[in-house]
Amino acid sequence: MTDDNLLDRALVRLEDAASHLKIDQDVLEKLKYPRETTKMRLLIRMDDGSRKSFLAWRCRYDDTRGPTKGGIRFHPDSTIEEVETLAFWMTFKCAVMNLPYGGGKGAVRVDPRTLSKSELERLSRAYIQAFANIVGPNRDIPAPDVYTNAMIMGWMADEYSQIKGEVSPAVITGKPIALGGSLGRNDATARGGYYLVRHLAGELGLSGSRSVAIQGFGNAGQYFAQLAAADGNKVVAVSDSNGAIFKADGLDVDKLIAGKTSGKRVADLAGELGAQVISADALLAVECDVLVPAALEDMITPDNAGTIKAKVILELANGPVTPDADTILAERGIVVLPDILANAGGVTVSYFEWVQNRQGYYWDLEEIHARLLKMMEREGRAVWDISRDRGVSMRTAAYIHALGRLSTAIEAHGTQP
Ligand code: GLU
Repeated sequence: MTDDNLLDRALVRLEDAASHLKIDQDVLEKLKYPRETTKMRLLIRMDDGSRKSFLAWRCRYDDTRGPTKGGIRFHPDSTIEEVETLAFWMTFKCAVMNLPYGGGKGAVRVDPRTLSKSELERLSRAYIQAFANIVGPNRDIPAPDVYTNAMIMGWMADEYSQIKGEVSPAVITGKPIALGGSLGRNDATARGGYYLVRHLAGELGLSGSRSVAIQGFGNAGQYFAQLAAADGNKVVAVSDSNGAIFKADGLDVDKLIAGKTSGKRVADLAGELGAQVISADALLAVECDVLVPAALEDMITPDNAGTIKAKVILELANGPVTPDADTILAERGIVVLPDILANAGGVTVSYFEWVQNRQGYYWDLEEIHARLLKMMEREGRAVWDISRDRGVSMRTAAYIHALGRLSTAIEAHGTQP
């Protein structure tokens, strides 16, 4: 997270994709740098009466294909470099899914677990006060990310509406349903990834019931476990930032989620679930069909890529596999379903939310699921076909797919100045 080369390493994927296409240098020059990054200090009144300041950023990486779109992260290790890299990934993610958006991202350097609910509300409102002229329904549309949620998006949407003097739900997605949120947004990241694996199961050599190991047990990890278990798959290992557990014949996912919701850590639940406590490294090396990194960047590196036994890696996190680790995994025949496709279900349902806010007419859950399924399968298949036809990894194929759309749009905008 504090790595200064995160964006440089992310750009390796762009250059790799560009080498497979006839891409004009002008296009690469536009996509190599973030267009605008704003840094602010948020000054908050704490419950004890003192004032405290927090660093905050919002990056609009590229808006060629539409208003910039991407989450806001609250994390103690956030850096400008990380925000810009995440915004770069959003640019490509929206293009992979053919959403009419560019890419953006924001963050506050804070550990939200140390704040009371009212401090968290003041911080969330202060973020929007600071960035009110940067965000907007036609300009830049935030959403949840690591350690932010629907409640925070609700406060932010309310603050924006108050500043502008009109109800503007489309400025932010991932809101509570009562404030114009969409049905199906809460599990959309996991569901999109799940639809993708299910659709490509035959091609990936995954047959019948599968075993799954999940690194990270937040929003994406928990919902993925639930969806996988409900479909008859075994969740053999999970971890959170405190520890990991393993059970060869499958964990009881309902009990696990109930325990986690009550504030316990995954490792605290081992006894109750008849599971074994294992190390974070051991989780990555578990014998399973699908390994799901659902935490943070740079988790699978050259140091541990050689130990992975899964057939397929589904990146529900952003940037969990480093480029060097990609090379090792490819040599070992492990297929990586890349973040910009695998976790795109979240932003896709965010797009549905924005559309519903703008039209003022709301879809039922069935419609959301059907539309998400169609888009995940359509773009997943397109990426698979590029990968097969060109003999490149799924990651390179996803970048080729996105870069084709981005370069068409950049050229359509004209070449002057
Ligand atoms: N933070 C999520 C992501 O990284 C969702 C972004 C959005 O819905 O705009 O894709």
